[in-house]
Amino acid sequence: MTVLVIADFLQGQENAAIAPATLNTVAAAAEIGGDVHVLVAGQAVGGVAEAAAKIAGVAKVLVADNAAYAHLLPENVAPLIVALVLESGAKGYSHVLAPATTNGKNILPRVAALLDVDQISEIISVESANTFKRPIYAGNAIATVQSSAAIKVITVRTTGFDPVAAEGGSASVEAIAAAPDAGKSKFVGEELAKSDRPELTAAKVVVSGGRGMGNGDNFNHLYALADKLGAAVGASRAAVDAGFVPNDMQVGQTGKIVAPQLYIAVGISGAIQHLAGMKDSKVIVAINKDEEAPIFQVADYGLVADLFDAVPELASQL
Ligand SMILES: Cc1cc2nc3c(=O)[nH]c(=O)nc-3n(C[C@H](O)[C@H](O)[C@H](O)COP(=O)(O)OP(=O)(O)OC[C@H]3O[C@@H](n4cnc5c(N)ncnc54)[C@H](O)[C@@H]3O)c2cc1C
Repeated sequence: MTVLVIADFLQGQENAAIAPATLNTVAAAAEIGGDVHVLVAGQAVGGVAEAAAKIAGVAKVLVADNAAYAHLLPENVAPLIVALVLESGAKGYSHVLAPATTNGKNILPRVAALLDVDQISEIISVESANTFKRPIYAGNAIATVQSSAAIKVITVRTTGFDPVAAEGGSASVEAIAAAPDAGKSKFVGEELAKSDRPELTAAKVVVSGGRGMGNGDNFNHLYALADKLGAAVGASRAAVDAGFVPNDMQVGQTGKIVAPQLYIAVGISGAIQHLAGMKDSKVIVAINKDEEAPIFQVADYGLVADLFDAVPELASQL
């Protein structure tokens, strides 16, 4: 049994640095058992392949270095993965795993379709080589899924697995032949949100604001607090819909899924759709003036207070 993990890249740094989400995915692969191989597909990815070879627990790194794979265009990468799996034969790849990131969610459904198997999406635990747990109904229930597919195609919710060490391994690196460009799509450009603060899904501390913030300017209170904590700033959908902050800050069912060491929810009521994006955080702190707010049911520490008093005071104490 061999598990193939598809390496992802840091946003905006394609072909330069491996995304930490890859390390969580290798952790899930290790729990499945057998050998773990990592596919690094991209353009000028030699350095990335070397970094991948150092990941703890990886036996082999396959490198497909070709312009066709730049920016992980799924129309080109999916057939590459399918060819690898089929060529590996009956004793070859039993599982294909990718993090449930934008790239993973773009590539793996195509792989599953081409292999004619069901994809198992966003697993949060590995019960055995064919049985996995995944959240359904926005995290309100956990389904245990057993697959009889010959090849299991799986996206991994990274918050469910502690990352393996990025150093310490010594995998072999093997270049593989590239298939021709499918010519179905091309990369035109990207616009990236720039921030000096950590990226929301990778931050150890997240401070999020909701409708209670009142307006976008009041988010400055949260930015001041976040800067003292080295935190990323998130928001509820109500705050995004009201135009207080851009939608790449949204945490929740239809936003980003985060599981930091510390999550501070400010002026957020705690709707289930918001909880779906943050309830796996290690420590949850809620500041809300309504002591009945549902957020207090998931909070480890709750402060019933007006945020306009509590947040500046907290920042000044820090
Ligand atoms: C299909 C679907 C998907 C959704 N996806 C998401 C999602 O991804 N993320 C998400 O967040 N929501 C999502 N929602 C919306 C969700 O249902 C809630 O409407 C939303 O989370 C509410 O945001 P809120 O807590 O900021 O606002 P509210 O529920 O209005 O809560 C504001 C809170 O601020 C408190 N407050 C007000 N003033 C102060 C003050 N001065 N000091 C302290 N506290 C104060 C109030 O007591 C209140 O608890 C989704 C909804 C649907 C139907």
